[in-house]
Amino acid sequence: MAAMMPTAANGRETGAWEVLRARARAATAGLPAVPEPGPGVCASCRGPARHGFARCFHCGLHTESAPGLLADVVAPVACAPKGSSLATDLWVYKSERTGSREAGAALLAMLLVFLHDQAPGVWRSAATAPTCVCVVPSGRGRPGPHPLQALAQGCLGLPWAALVARPGGDPWARALDPGRFRAPRPLTGAAVLLLDDTWTSGGTAQSAAVALKRAGARWVAVVVLGRHLPGPRGRPPAREAKK
Ligand SMILES: [Zn+2]
Repeated sequence: MAAMMPTAANGRETGAWEVLRARARAATAGLPAVPEPGPGVCASCRGPARHGFARCFHCGLHTESAPGLLADVVAPVACAPKGSSLATDLWVYKSERTGSREAGAALLAMLLVFLHDQAPGVWRSAATAPTCVCVVPSGRGRPGPHPLQALAQGCLGLPWAALVARPGGDPWARALDPGRFRAPRPLTGAAVLLLDDTWTSGGTAQSAAVALKRAGARWVAVVVLGRHLPGPRGRPPAREAKK
């Protein structure tokens, strides 16, 4: 993944990375760290898992529904508790609202720093590295490329693979649907870096992973900017806090 670098880096790469790291740190300041899998933490998505269960409810269901076709790795860049500034950035960057450009810049910094500094360790432990990159389609009729692809496509040194939503599907569905997407071109033997902005239940990203595997991909790694969490840890929801 050494080919991945900000296009602005040119001959001053080190300084550019320091700027990006500072920006990424600012975007995630005060957020809980992404936990390692273990007791209470889902082995697939790092979300909360019930005591005694290796996976959260949704990942357990996905594993039963599409064995052998799910993402091989799910790597959240950060946790995005409900109401956090990161959770706000994750929807503002796709909007026309004031601040969308700044939110996009912060998210791009997070993504690039993760891919440069942390992802190589993920690839090493998987004994493979991506040969192409793809984004989880939003399927919501937005014209042009997905906002995450629009942000990242000039910065990643990998060819882009495409996924499209099959007609007639429910664009708002969150459950795993193995028939929801298809790859228009074969991906025989590909190792795919699958990008998404937010992981809530993981149903959409895993539906995309299934489509990639069915197109011939041998390995799929989901890198997701924000792993949604119900609320800031250790702080009860506002309505309960008033009691
Ligand atoms: Zn999970």
